[in-house]
Amino acid sequence: MFRGAQRSVLVLALLGTWTWLAAAPARADRCAAALRRPVELAVSGPGFTIPDTWRRRGLRYGTRGLVRLVERVAKRMKKSFPGSTLHVADLSMPNGAKTAWHHTHQSGRDADLLFYAIGPDGQPAPPPADMVRYGVTGRGEDGLRRFDSARNWSLVRALITEPAARVEKIYVAPWLERRLIDFARSRKVNAGIIARAAKVMAPPGRTVPPHDDHFHVRIACPAGPPITAELGKRRRRR
Ligand SMILES: [Zn+2]
Repeated sequence: MFRGAQRSVLVLALLGTWTWLAAAPARADRCAAALRRPVELAVSGPGFTIPDTWRRRGLRYGTRGLVRLVERVAKRMKKSFPGSTLHVADLSMPNGAKTAWHHTHQSGRDADLLFYAIGPDGQPAPPPADMVRYGVTGRGEDGLRRFDSARNWSLVRALITEPAARVEKIYVAPWLERRLIDFARSRKVNAGIIARAAKVMAPPGRTVPPHDDHFHVRIACPAGPPITAELGKRRRRR
C-alpha cells in the first residue's frame, strides 16, 4: 500500500505524534496542576489559628510561598495589633484533591481568611463556627459581629506588600472592598498602595457566592523553571 519513502514519513509522523502526546504532562502549566509539593500550615502559630470547623477538614496545605505568606502576614498583624488573631480557613488538601467545599483550592495557591471582627464588647471577636456574612453597613448577619475595617485593611495591605509571595487576587464582596478603600483614604494611606489594593481586590465571578464572609487570597504562579524540568535535573544528579 505504501512505498518505502511514504512509509518512513508515516512512521515518523506517528512517532512524532506519540512523543508529543507523551510529553503532555511536562508541557502542562505547572500552576494549573494539583498541588505537588505540599507545605503544611501549622494549626496555629504567632498571630493565627485555624478554627475547629476548618481544622477538621484538613485543607491546610499550600505552596511554600502561600504558607509563608499566611505566617508572615499573621505575624505582622500581631505586631501592629497586639493580641490579634487571624482566623485561617481552607487552603488545599496535601495532594491537591478536589473537595466538597470548593471548585478551586487544588493548586496550593488559594487561602481563605476570615475577616477580623469586633464583638459586642468592642473586643476582637472569637472565631465563629461558620463563616459570618457582612452587609453594606458592616454588621454581621449573626447580629453580634462587626466588620473591623482597621484590621482588615491592614491585612490587605500586608498581603499586597509581603515579599513571601505575589498576591494576584483577593476576592471579596464589592461593598466590603469599598469600606476598606474608604477606610484607607480616611487614613491618608499612600495613593499607590490604595490603587494597588483596589486592583488586587475583586468580586468573585457571577457563579460563585459573593465572598462577603471571607477573603479568598490567590497567589501568582511562582516564577522559575517548570517542575518537571527540576525533577529531570534531580534525576540526572542521582
Ligand atoms: Zn476560597
